[in-house]
Amino acid sequence: MLPPLVLAPIYRRYLWGGRGFAQALGRDLPPGDDYAESWELVDRGSDQSVVAHGPLAGTTLGSLVHDHGAELLGRHAPQPAFPLLFKFLDACHDLSVQVHPDDERAARLNPPDRGKTEAWYVVAAAPGSRIYAGLRAGVDHAALAAALATGTCGDLLHSFTPRPGDCIFIPAGTVHAIGAGLLVAEIQQSSDVTFRLHDWNRVGADGRPRPLHIAAGLEAVTRFGPVHPVEPRPTDDSVVTRLVDSPFFRLDRVTPLAAAPAQSARWEVGGDDGCHFLAVLSGQVRCADHWGLPPLARGACVLLPASAGRQSISAEPDAAGDVTLLHVSLP
Ligand SMILES: [Zn+2]
Repeated sequence: MLPPLVLAPIYRRYLWGGRGFAQALGRDLPPGDDYAESWELVDRGSDQSVVAHGPLAGTTLGSLVHDHGAELLGRHAPQPAFPLLFKFLDACHDLSVQVHPDDERAARLNPPDRGKTEAWYVVAAAPGSRIYAGLRAGVDHAALAAALATGTCGDLLHSFTPRPGDCIFIPAGTVHAIGAGLLVAEIQQSSDVTFRLHDWNRVGADGRPRPLHIAAGLEAVTRFGPVHPVEPRPTDDSVVTRLVDSPFFRLDRVTPLAAAPAQSARWEVGGDDGCHFLAVLSGQVRCADHWGLPPLARGACVLLPASAGRQSISAEPDAAGDVTLLHVSLP
């Protein structure tokens, strides 16, 4: 039986990053002010999450999927690789305007890949920061093509100022960008295909514009109209709110103290022959003592293998009285 797996974060440093993971997630970051992404769950070629604690320390997620697929994934096994990727992003500058293809289009690429449907959960938002999601009402393919040709695509994007706790669902084929000042958690199909449509008419570090993929990107745009934050929905479990229920992943917000406000509470998850991924956004949680894991504080993530069965998670609030988790599962 596989134990709960605490995976080590993999930091990606880009010009647009910052030190938000220290402030918003309590991470102990090395020096540098360009921490852009923190990959918490990845199994893509040489990009591999690695188990950080316990008897499996040092093992990659890919080798667990390969050698212990049935234990890890239960009813979702076998898989060639873990199908989802989870990361945090700290956007200190506006990210480029992008679109990802759907599964059918991505399968026709060379090399073939998965499509990418993704969802963002806003962890922290600077005042006035913006999310760009979808196109303004009435903008069609021809209008988008014309605006891309003249560098005015920004005028056609639907945008809004999000609040922490907002969740935005971005199906493949939706034009999107994360604006400056946002720290988000992102769950996505594990895919590497991004078409950059527009880069705000900026130049890169070398003084030249970054390459755009306008023809392929336009072909991948299949969704029109604005995208608004999701409407959270209650579930049978009073402490669980469903944010996204897609063919590729489910995303829930869990507030274990919501049912019985107290100094601590227990929440049960799993036991459905599937694996479950948790990211702690506030407060602290613990897996059962016999697993020998450290407490999981704000910013920590854990992957619960299918074979571990139903798990009782104990939760302790932070100074503000909050415990909030994101819970990702396969449908
Ligand atoms: Zn994207």
